[in-house]
Amino acid sequence: MVHPIVKFGDPVLEREAEDVRDFDTPELDQFLADMFESMYAAKGVGLAAPQIGISKKIAVIDCSNGERPEEKLVLINPKIVKIEGRQEGEEGCLSIPGFREQVRRGKRVTVRAQNAKGEEFEMTGEDLLARAFLHETDHLYGKLYITHISALKRDLIKRKIRKKQKAGEWE
Ligand SMILES: [Zn+2]
Repeated sequence: MVHPIVKFGDPVLEREAEDVRDFDTPELDQFLADMFESMYAAKGVGLAAPQIGISKKIAVIDCSNGERPEEKLVLINPKIVKIEGRQEGEEGCLSIPGFREQVRRGKRVTVRAQNAKGEEFEMTGEDLLARAFLHETDHLYGKLYITHISALKRDLIKRKIRKKQKAGEWE
């Protein structure tokens, strides 16, 4: 089932999500399937549960846009354990549609997380995958990518969003 994406302004996006404690259940498997479906429908490479209104530490990533099943990743209760190097690049967010900004991130990032069965694993990604690890893990702690840009640019984006909200273009 495709869920609508929650947009900036909803408090669920700016609070820390709850840890997941129940693993290997049909409900979790169904929820993960829904998250992938919702992410592909929105044409994203990553999606965090708060973005569909569920405040739990669950994120899905697929940098191949559904082209290569082996690139489907599930991160439950993730923590960033290592960041190396730097990369500059444009970043956007499904919850802040219509905006993209240059964001400096680590180039090589290691995340520690659990899978749907509750097994802990570590994975290191570079470039786009490293960026996705950081962006999605941030979401689960209530942090949006615009917290990593200048206050000036952030305020500009917020002003434009407020205008759209007033015009009823931001539901
Ligand atoms: Zn995002």
